Amino acid sequence: MSNLEADPAETVCPASEDGGPAALSLPSREVPLGGVRGTSVRRSLPHRDIPTVGAWCFLDHFGPTDHPMDILPHPHTGLQTVTWPLSGRLRHRDSLGSDVVVRPGELNLMTSGAGVSHSEFTSDLADPADAPLDGLQLWVALPEDVRHGSAAFEHHEDLPVLERGSSRATVLVGSLEDQVSPAEVHSPLVGAEITLRPGDGALELERSFEYAVQVIDGRADVNGEALAPDTLLFLGSGRAGLDLRTEAGARLLLLGGVPFEEELVMWWNFIGRSHAEVEQARTQWEASADRFGSVAGHAGARIPAPPLPNVRLTPRRRR
Ligand code: MN
Repeated sequence: MSNLEADPAETVCPASEDGGPAALSLPSREVPLGGVRGTSVRRSLPHRDIPTVGAWCFLDHFGPTDHPMDILPHPHTGLQTVTWPLSGRLRHRDSLGSDVVVRPGELNLMTSGAGVSHSEFTSDLADPADAPLDGLQLWVALPEDVRHGSAAFEHHEDLPVLERGSSRATVLVGSLEDQVSPAEVHSPLVGAEITLRPGDGALELERSFEYAVQVIDGRADVNGEALAPDTLLFLGSGRAGLDLRTEAGARLLLLGGVPFEEELVMWWNFIGRSHAEVEQARTQWEASADRFGSVAGHAGARIPAPPLPNVRLTPRRRR
């Protein structure tokens, strides 16, 4: 999925500082999409107070929508995209030649390295019997030693599952307790979907990770805090475990990772370390440079980069 915001601001995500085990509720914000008429997404990351959770730097909940969602080829730099459909299906094509349909329970992980481009279409798959499209799009920032490297794409249909009491966690990327996803990541982290049946559940956490939890559906308490829908509960680091409780069932997203030590400059679909890097990526995309390759099947159609904002943000401290 592209960041389809019509006028994206430049965001500076400062290097993380050890925040300790504070709990902070971060409501998502509604972001209208310029490219898709009448639709919007709920964006939880980057958040003004907490720009990153580990290397997780972007979290959009899109849908549910019956509108076709056809996202033409667009570029990425410095990140991995994690696509996790909750209902419906998406066809992914990229400049590496991948052409894959992703369904609920399956993971698409694309690593941009220095540059990649891709498209995501639903109209190709249109079937009146299809469920509305609903899903999560996340980005993982790549650390310095791999962000200039090659692009890669992985599709996983068989992900590890951790059963603990009334909770069932599917590990999308990274590791949770003794379960490790086969998807390749470049810093210690976890992304997991947790399905809770009525009752209590508990999961062991990694003390060196900071964590955040978001309700996908239902209602639940996490470490005694009631979670509102589409609100990210930031839990900080230094925690030994997660206590989960639900009366009627719930589905949650758990994100965590070692606090990311590098300052990021994010704009549109690019992550760099400076305004100049982002500006160069934009210029190269507009010039159809080799850096981003091309996606077959679109007859050259692509999403043009929005104009760069006049205002550059200066780094902020977290919290
Ligand atoms: Mn994308």
